[in-house]
Amino acid sequence: MARVKHFQCTECGMCCYGQLPLTCKDAFANASRFPLCFVWTPLRQGSKDYPLVATLGTTIKLTGRKELAVLITPTAYIPSSFPCPALGDDNLCSIHSNKPSRCKTMPFYPYREERYQAELLTPRQSWACDTSTAAPLVFQDNAIVFRNDFDNERQELLEQVPILRRYADYMLKYSASLVNNLIHASSKVKAGHVITSLSSFLTASKNADAKHIAQLQLPLLKDYMAKTAGDVKLAEFHRNYLNWSKEMAYLSQAQS
Ligand code: SF4
Ligand code: SF4
Repeated sequence: MARVKHFQCTECGMCCYGQLPLTCKDAFANASRFPLCFVWTPLRQGSKDYPLVATLGTTIKLTGRKELAVLITPTAYIPSSFPCPALGDDNLCSIHSNKPSRCKTMPFYPYREERYQAELLTPRQSWACDTSTAAPLVFQDNAIVFRNDFDNERQELLEQVPILRRYADYMLKYSASLVNNLIHASSKVKAGHVITSLSSFLTASKNADAKHIAQLQLPLLKDYMAKTAGDVKLAEFHRNYLNWSKEMAYLSQAQS
C-alpha cells in the first residue's frame, strides 16, 4: 500500500538547535557564522543505507573482507541546547532566502535513500510540525512530491565526493587512531561519530583561502569557548573549541 505523508513547517524554530550538517559549499559560505568541523559517520555492511553512504562518502577496507562506509560531513558544531546563530528572537531564520541546502530540504535528508524518507516525517518531541491531513501532501508512492531542494542537495553532495575522498585518504594516512575510532563508533547501537577539525581539512586540501577562513573562525571559536566554559555537560565541546582556536590562530598567521 502506498505510504502517504503530509507535512507543514509551522516555524516553531525547534529544529534549529544543535549540530547542522552542511555541504562543503555551504560550510565555507558560512565560515563567519558557524564554528566548523567534520563529522565522520561509519556504517557497517548490511545497513540499508550502506550503498548510498558508500557513494556519498568513502569506504574503508578492514580485515577479513569487511569494510565500512563512512559519511564525512562538514558540520556547524553547536551543542544541542544552543540555537543556530542565524535563528532570530522571533524563531525565524534570519538568513531564510540564503539558508544552507540542509535547511531548505528539511525534513527530508538526502544522505538516506528516497524510499526511506517517510520515516523522517515524524516530528521529534517538542517539534511543532503539522503532519495532519490538512498539511500539504509531501510524500507519496515512495517518492518526495516537491523535490527540487532534495535533488539540489543530493547533487551538491555528489559533486563534493572527490574533495572529501582526498581528505579521507590524507587523514587515514596520517591519523593512526582514525580507523580504530571509526570501528569503535560503528559498533555503537545509536550511530556513533568521529569528529575531526576544520584545520585538518584546510591543510589536507591545501586550501588557498585557509588563512582567511581561519581568521573568520577564530572569533567564533573563542565566542563558543566562552559560552561553554564551566559547563560539565559541554566539556567536550569546550575542549574542541579551545583546541581548534589554537589551530586557527596558527593558520591565520602561519601563511602571512
Ligand atoms: S540557518 Fe536558518 S533554518 Fe538553518 S538551522 Fe539556522 S536558523 Fe534554522
Ligand atoms: S521543528 Fe518542524 S515546525 Fe518547527 S521549525 Fe522545524 S520543521 Fe518547522
